Formats: sequence, structure tokens, C-alpha cells
Amino acid sequence: MWAYGDTVLYRYGRRAEARFVRLGRVIADDQDGLVLWIAPGSPQVESLLADGTTVRSLPLDQRAAAVRERRHTTWRGPGIVQYTPVVGDWSVWWFFTPDGEFAGWYGNLESPRVRWAAGVDATDRALDVWITPDRVARWKDEDEFAAMTGTPGRWTVEQVPAIRAAGEHLIALAAAGASPFDGRWTDYRPDPAWEPVEMPDHWDRPHLATP
Ligand code: MG
Repeated sequence: MWAYGDTVLYRYGRRAEARFVRLGRVIADDQDGLVLWIAPGSPQVESLLADGTTVRSLPLDQRAAAVRERRHTTWRGPGIVQYTPVVGDWSVWWFFTPDGEFAGWYGNLESPRVRWAAGVDATDRALDVWITPDRVARWKDEDEFAAMTGTPGRWTVEQVPAIRAAGEHLIALAAAGASPFDGRWTDYRPDPAWEPVEMPDHWDRPHLATP
């Protein structure tokens, strides 16, 4: 378990390579899971097209195989609270407005995590769920999920029902106002004592999670 305020990497990747890397401060790490604060302006690593745009600028059928380059960038939005349960193929991200008002939950469907000394590794599954502050849910990126299913290094057709079930589970939890959609962290403010974080050199060690 990490301690309050520790700096932890959260790495999405596949085929042993980290493709999207965030750096957060530990809010809590216990039997309920890991809670991180991703501060505005935090260093990150993104995989972008050669011209610096994201893969989303391409038509759906070209995204899976597009050649990407990893670049050091910074998180440009307001801060995020990211909660990862001990068990469950998802994480939930609390989004805020620039004024610090709670803006909604982003349910990110992802592989089981692999924890290592300085970080957490997962493989993203493209499909997401967006849940408004009044707990109205909608699916996000179903088209990209379908287009990428079965492509090299990603989830298989056989995994699709379980991945969708994880999203349905989140939608049901939200509708019931159950944890983690019970109001926790919606008014979160980061510790004013926390200094800005710097990307450590070990961000690029071999990525451990499988799709
Ligand atoms: Mg996602």
C-alpha cells in the first residue's frame, strides 16, 4: 500500500509498452482501492500521430493500426480524482469545472490492474460510460470500441460481453447512488501542501497488464 501524498504512475499500455502515462498523488490506498489526485498541469506521456494530433482525428477504421509516437505533454484540464477498486475492470474519474465544481464521472473500462513498486498498469478498452452529477448515464465511444475489437494487442470478440457487463455494473451503481457514486470526493480539494510532481525516469519500464 502507498501512503498519503505518495507519487504514483498510472500507465495504460499494451504489448509491454506504456502508451499513456499519468502521474498522481495518493489520496487513499486501502481495502476499498486506490484514489489518486491528478493535478492540473501534471506531466504525462501521450501517444500521438506524427503531426501531434490525437488518433481521434482519424476515421474509425484507421485508428487501431495508426502509428503513434510517445510524447511528453501536460494534463491541460482541471484536476481529476481517479478511483480504482481492488477488483473490477474499471476505474472512475471525477471531473471538475475550472471553478472546482463537480462536472461528472467518467467510467473508464479497462483490464485488471497490475501493481508494481511505483505504479499501476492497465490496458484501456476504449468503451466508456459518462455519468452526469444527477446520475444519468450514457455509453461513450461504442463505435471506437467496435472498430478496435479483435485488432492486434487489444481485447477479443470473446471478451466483449464481460467488458460491456462492467459498464452495465457502473451504470447500475450510479443509478442506485451506491459507492463510488454516493457523493464521495465530489467536493474534493487537493492538499495545498502538495508540490508539483515531476515525471520519473522509470515511467517507461516494461508495461505489465494484458488486454
Ligand atoms: Mg477509456
